[in-house]
Amino acid sequence: MAVYSLGGTIAMTTDPTTGGVVPALSAHELLAAVPALETSGISLQVRDFRRLPGASLSFQDLTELSGAIKAELDAGGVDGVVVTQGTDTIEETAFLLDLHHDREQPIIVTGAMRNPTLAGPDGPANLHAAVIAAADPGLRNGGCLVVLGDEIHTARSVRKSHTTSPAAFASPSAGPIGRIAEGRVRMTTALPHRSHPLAEAVRAARVGLYTVTLGDDGALLDLWDGNCDGLVVAAFGVGHVPECLVEGLGKLAAHIPVVLASRIGNGPVLTATYGFPGSEKDLLARGLIGAGDLSPYQARLLLHGLIAQGADRASILEAFATATD
Ligand code: ASP
Repeated sequence: MAVYSLGGTIAMTTDPTTGGVVPALSAHELLAAVPALETSGISLQVRDFRRLPGASLSFQDLTELSGAIKAELDAGGVDGVVVTQGTDTIEETAFLLDLHHDREQPIIVTGAMRNPTLAGPDGPANLHAAVIAAADPGLRNGGCLVVLGDEIHTARSVRKSHTTSPAAFASPSAGPIGRIAEGRVRMTTALPHRSHPLAEAVRAARVGLYTVTLGDDGALLDLWDGNCDGLVVAAFGVGHVPECLVEGLGKLAAHIPVVLASRIGNGPVLTATYGFPGSEKDLLARGLIGAGDLSPYQARLLLHGLIAQGADRASILEAFATATD
């Protein structure tokens, strides 16, 4: 088993200069807080990879992590991988790792909502549960999964649903696929169906995220033109925008891929129900690409990966259709 630590609340202690907590603990120190692992019989390769807050992780960090994990798995002797990191970006990093992961050993991402200086920090319990999950043969071919609060979530369905609750991670549309209890995994549903992994990046890409809000006059929409290679629109409800944005979005969609997602982040954008200007039907007819039930953040990562691997419009359409069916 390999454990990669990236930082985050799980690894934070008080910084005397700022008086706030900052990522400081090594991967060894994290594991030392879980004595049960010593008697578990699971041998652990420890990788102190980054000490960053989740918010400062970059595409470069994740590309390097993906590469290191692949190399480690190819070298053999590793049944699964655990990644510890800040919960701020777990939704995105887990989805991104999943998009690139093509080996059968699972990658389990975990973190903590309560830092080690607080009463009842959840980091040690989450790390213990993550190691148990990563070692479980039943999770092979599960891709990248998220384990927090003894629940196992797919990268596709998990959402951070509260800013502070230790039960912040949930899969609102599907529920967890399993739980960890008494030191073992108990599945509640089958492993997820996964679409084909993305290829390596061959070019840099910038993909924007534009959230539509009440009374939006579209004036800022023009700023995206020429400043990004692709755009995700987080629209109202099932995929709706104010009528005054329709022309601008249509123009953008003629230059770059523009993906239509819902800012709700739970449930699909529709394709064929509403017919008013600014409806999902109208926007799709103007060349926008439906995100299905991917959240705006997930849609942005998929679009980023596709543009970075040099995909043309037809392949982008096909990838979104496959990812969202
Ligand atoms: N609140 C965050 C966490 O849970 C901080 C971070 O993402 O680094 O880890």
